[in-house]
Amino acid sequence: MKGKMKAIIKRESKPGAELTEVDIPRISPNEVLVNVKVASICGTDVHIYKWNEWAQNRIKPPLIIGHEFAGEVVEVGTNVKSLKVGDFVSAETHIPCNQCFQCKTGKQHICKNVSILGVDINGVFADYVALPEVCAWKNSEKIPFEFASVQEPLGNSVYATLEGGGVTGKKVAIFGCGPIGLFAAGVARVSGASEIISIGKHEFRMEIAKKMGADHILKYPDDDIMKLITEITGGEGVDVVLEMTGSQDAINQGLTVLKKGGRFTAFGIPSGKVEIDLANGIIFKGANIVGISGRKMFDTWYRVAGLLESKRIDISPVITHKFPLEEFRKGFELMMSKERKAAKILLFP
Ligand SMILES: [Zn+2]
Ligand SMILES: [Zn+2]
Repeated sequence: MKGKMKAIIKRESKPGAELTEVDIPRISPNEVLVNVKVASICGTDVHIYKWNEWAQNRIKPPLIIGHEFAGEVVEVGTNVKSLKVGDFVSAETHIPCNQCFQCKTGKQHICKNVSILGVDINGVFADYVALPEVCAWKNSEKIPFEFASVQEPLGNSVYATLEGGGVTGKKVAIFGCGPIGLFAAGVARVSGASEIISIGKHEFRMEIAKKMGADHILKYPDDDIMKLITEITGGEGVDVVLEMTGSQDAINQGLTVLKKGGRFTAFGIPSGKVEIDLANGIIFKGANIVGISGRKMFDTWYRVAGLLESKRIDISPVITHKFPLEEFRKGFELMMSKERKAAKILLFP
């Protein structure tokens, strides 16, 4: 398709991003062109916007940012077999190589040569995106566009919450009240967790955790988290810790409140090295440690779609703001504000 489109582009190696007009991308034989209907802002986009150390090392401007979205296929590459014009799609943002050991043994989500949409190749904060067929996910018409747009982060929560033995009848502590921690409270609720303890820093988001199904809301650093969790669990500790902050304190607390033989799921990415008490936190506890990167392709996607299609989970409390794409700065400002009075923010091109 020829013509111009609007896009949010990181043009230079410095903080910020700009709305600009660029050519509609040409697709290769293995790609489809998708008209973006709605996109959502992820923590990764905020890192790129702020231009933190990770972004400085990883991002090569100019780049159209954004990777969470839903849209409609308007053009199909000559080799593409699984999609047609008019299909309603979202994307797995990890684009696997399909050649490495991991890809060939069913672990595409940890592909050794992964490239990421909106990080390594042009993303979705635009009218159109050229999407590789290998990471396109066809949505059911039953799922509203706005919910379809956040399946990627919801998938993180589904994968993290359920991998390594599920949560049915178990006590779960979720460290972190960002969107993924909030979704995780909902996933734990609909999966039958017996007790859900959400630990967060920001009042606004902790209210959402309650709506998503958390039974107990603990505030960091004001509350005595160790003592309260010990009380809630009758001195036993929790069966499952979902660590979604990456902070040293939360990791220490999580390993301390974990029941012997319990599961510690690591998802939050620390900004540097962290120290852990390996002997008492893991070895003597016989703890199961589960690392979560991305979403299982495509096992997680089927589960997410199942939860949304059946309306088993209501994720609407997590979607707090909607802006036209032109007003993207408002969204980024909210995501970076001290009080974090936002969770998932949608942008409409
Ligand atoms: Zn994301
Ligand atoms: Zn690979």
